[in-house]
Amino acid sequence: MIDFDGFQFNDLISKQIMQALGEHDQAFAEITHDQVQNRVTKSVFMACLAKMNGLAFFPKVAEFCDSELLDKCDPSTLTRGNFTPLCIHHQTLLIAVVDPWQSQADEYLASRFPGHEIVRIVTIKSEISRTIENASASAGPNQEQLESIEVEDFEEFKKDFDVTNTEYDEPMAALTAQIMSDAVKKRTSDIHFKVEKESFYYAFRINGDIAPRVELPMKLKDRIDAFLLNLMGLPPEIRSTAIGISGRFTISYFHRPIDIRYERHRTYRGYHITMRLLDKGNLNVTLGKGTLAFDDETLFAMRKVMKVPAGIIVMSGPTGSGKSTTLNAMLRELNRPEVNILTLENPVEDEVPGITHCDLRSADEFKPMVSSFMRSDPDIILMGEVRDIESAELAIEAAVTGHKVLTTVHTARASQIIERFEQLGIERWKIAQTLKAACAQRLLKVLCPYCKVELEGVSEYDRKTYNLDDSWTTQVIYERNQDGCQECNSSGYAGRTAIVEIIPITPKISDQLSKGEISPYDLEIQIEAEGILPNLRRSGLKLLKSGKTDLDAVSKVIDMSSDDH
Ligand SMILES: [Zn+2]
Repeated sequence: MIDFDGFQFNDLISKQIMQALGEHDQAFAEITHDQVQNRVTKSVFMACLAKMNGLAFFPKVAEFCDSELLDKCDPSTLTRGNFTPLCIHHQTLLIAVVDPWQSQADEYLASRFPGHEIVRIVTIKSEISRTIENASASAGPNQEQLESIEVEDFEEFKKDFDVTNTEYDEPMAALTAQIMSDAVKKRTSDIHFKVEKESFYYAFRINGDIAPRVELPMKLKDRIDAFLLNLMGLPPEIRSTAIGISGRFTISYFHRPIDIRYERHRTYRGYHITMRLLDKGNLNVTLGKGTLAFDDETLFAMRKVMKVPAGIIVMSGPTGSGKSTTLNAMLRELNRPEVNILTLENPVEDEVPGITHCDLRSADEFKPMVSSFMRSDPDIILMGEVRDIESAELAIEAAVTGHKVLTTVHTARASQIIERFEQLGIERWKIAQTLKAACAQRLLKVLCPYCKVELEGVSEYDRKTYNLDDSWTTQVIYERNQDGCQECNSSGYAGRTAIVEIIPITPKISDQLSKGEISPYDLEIQIEAEGILPNLRRSGLKLLKSGKTDLDAVSKVIDMSSDDH
């Protein structure tokens, strides 16, 4: 049975799909049903489904949708059924579907638009939600709405807060729902609410940057605060007794649950609330695809590192560099029926069938949890983060006893991983012998392909600032369009892509490090000079040369002060 993008196909259809895929590309003739999800892109897969049914395939349909048609439909029926009406021409209704074998779309739309002949085309699943989202009016509240909000008492709201419901009588519920659905729509990672001396506002973090703030009336600051606490079942009085409040709740966005991690601390003028959105629907955790579309050289180096039978693989990088997402993607590749994989995370980001996920509820749970792990016959252990001597020692012990351990630390460069373990109190030789790969990752903003601006070479000033050689004088590069366009929400950028640096610790390097013959920094320089393994600066410049990103984005996430060689 093939399981692709949340759709299951029965044995007969799966067989036919495999045949169609093989005809499309010889390389697909060899793969198993389980590998389809990881090896075939969504466009190729859906195009095959369309062809098998004699239908046309369009990867983009949102822009062709006449939103008046959507007004006649229930958005949650469309989202759950994965179909949408697009437009009417004479007596013909054009509709987009994802699964061409299901008939719900025709039945539902025939009753909504009687007397029309229905013509179907096939698109990808995410495009259906994009079409429905585009048409929905949720663009955040406007000033007039904000001013007219009445301040009253509210009742208990369910923990599973439906942010796409537009009928809330309670004004705080309506406002919060509006802000949150706008946040999900814009692929926001964090929502900030902040009280300052004379202002109260919220702001979204999108693609790593804080977007412009939206001012809210001062009179709402206590009400929103109390409403959010109420969502987590906490009494409003807790504000005056607790300095920091952590919590979690779930919102429902077109019937899709999204976990929210809530953090609030007191400030001089009031409070600062940060809500992290853990939108699993947007998580793309397949190596080589989406955000993790690494080049062949990087993928090869990564897969080689993953083959190491026992030892520690560490991914470093600042907060928000997507390091745990990459480790999760590695786990997905390592996940086989014959291996036992355990994870210890806070929170669990990506639930994979076949992997035992455990969430860490408090720091005290770490040690007993890992001790219990070690007795549960594991092969591979994912440890969310090494942050103290206790977790560092446990990672080393697990590696020494023959396990593969994947974990993260907060350091800027890959070579600093060894120093970080030393600072935590682990002897150099112990790290040198158990660490198998020191990696670093960054997320680099990708230019919007529809509006990027061409530049004839890099200026002398920029060449000096970023240590770029003379070949860049005439190198055509691109930069962001300041005004952006419709495709990129006026931002000039379209998502992010990951780049990594990998330092494998071979037996020879391990020996040299143990004896103190080379320092971790020497090692980094040596590997950079060899120029074979992926490195952050080189990968960043490669993407710049190919026109995928701009100098501003590269210099924001990579230390550009080192030389080009
Ligand atoms: Zn654009």
